[in-house]
Amino acid sequence: MFEHRDINALDVKKMALRYGADLVGISPMDRFEGAPKQMDARYIFPGAKSMIVLGFRIARGTLRGIEEGTLFSNYPSMGYAALNQIYGPMVLWNMTRFLENAGYETIPMLNTGGGEAISSVTGNFRNGWSRPVREGKPYPDVLVSFRMAAYMAGLGEIGWNRLLLTPEFGPRQRFALLLTDAEIESDPIYEGKICDRCKLCVRDCMGKALSITESVKTTVAGHELEWAKFDPLACEKGIQGGLDGELNPFEGDYPRQYGYGRAIEGACGCIRACMIHLEERKRIKNLFRNKFRTQEQWKIDHSKPYELTQDVINYYVNNGKIEDYDEYIRYNERDNYGIKKADKSDDNSTEHNPLID
Ligand code: SF4
Ligand code: SF4
Repeated sequence: MFEHRDINALDVKKMALRYGADLVGISPMDRFEGAPKQMDARYIFPGAKSMIVLGFRIARGTLRGIEEGTLFSNYPSMGYAALNQIYGPMVLWNMTRFLENAGYETIPMLNTGGGEAISSVTGNFRNGWSRPVREGKPYPDVLVSFRMAAYMAGLGEIGWNRLLLTPEFGPRQRFALLLTDAEIESDPIYEGKICDRCKLCVRDCMGKALSITESVKTTVAGHELEWAKFDPLACEKGIQGGLDGELNPFEGDYPRQYGYGRAIEGACGCIRACMIHLEERKRIKNLFRNKFRTQEQWKIDHSKPYELTQDVINYYVNNGKIEDYDEYIRYNERDNYGIKKADKSDDNSTEHNPLID
C-alpha cells in the first residue's frame, strides 16, 4: 500500500477523474512568479513541485429553479456550497491518499476561506489581522485564487466576467486544488478563445458589479490577461437578489445554505447569461438537448403590495392551512430543544463571492 514510486500526469488525471473530478490540470509552482506574496502558494508549501487543480461542474440543473423562479435553495447548496465543501473535499481526500501512499506530501485545499490576511470578498489586506511568523514570510493565511490556479493549470481562459471559462463548461464549474512535492508533467497554458466579449455578463448583472468598458490587466505565467473592472461589494449585495431585490422573491431573509451566503440571484450575469450565450454559439462542449432560457428573465417589484393568489386562497386559506411569516421566524429562533438560538451576530460562517472563489 505504501510504496514510494514515481507518479506521472496520466496516473494523476486518471485517478482524479475516477474519484469524481470533471476536469484536472497540472501547473508547475513557478507559474506563481510575479503573484503578490500574500497570494503565492509557494509560501504555503515551499517544497511543492506541482499544483493539481480539479474542476467540478456546476450542474446546469442547479440553476433551473432560479431561472424558473420556483426553487432557490438548490443552487446555493448543490451548485455552490456542497461542491466546495462536500463533493470537492471528498475527491481531494482520495487524491491525497493516492499521492501520500506513493510518498508525496500533499496539501488538499478546498475552496473555502476563513483566516486569510486578504479579504476573499474585496481582495483588500486586513490591517491588524495577523503577523508574519518569520521575517520575509507573508501574513497568515495566504489566499490562493482558485480561478487563477485553474488558469495556471491550463484549464481555460479568464473571461470578461472574471471567471475561468473552460472549453467544457464555460463559466459553470468550481475548483479545488492540491499542492504536492511530486514533480508531475504540467499542462500548457490554455491558448484557445472562449470569451468573445459579447458583454452579456455585464448587461445581465443585476448587481451592476461588472464594468462594460473599464478593465483590469495583469500578467500570469507570461500571458497578459484582461477582465472587467469589478465592484465586489456591489456583487455581494447583487448575489442576494439584485441591488433592489428585483431577483429576490422573498419577503424576509432567505436561510443560508450550508453556511454560505444566500446566492439566490443565481449569478444571473456572470454565469447564467454567459452560459446561455456560449451554449447558443456552441463555444463549449457540454451542450444540452433543451434550450436553457425560454422566457425573459423575471423581475419582482417589491413596491407592489403582497397578495395571495386565488389557488392559495382556495386550497390553504379556505381549509385553515395558513400561518404568518412571523410564526416561521419565531419557530426558527428555537433549536430542537425549544431553546432560543444565539443572536445572528454570533454567526461567523464565511460569506463567499463566486468571482473570487
Ligand atoms: S458573457 Fe460574453 S463577454 Fe461575458 S464572459 Fe461570457 S463570453 Fe465573455
Ligand atoms: S454574482 Fe455575477 S451576476 Fe451576480 S452580482 Fe455578482 S457579478 Fe453580478
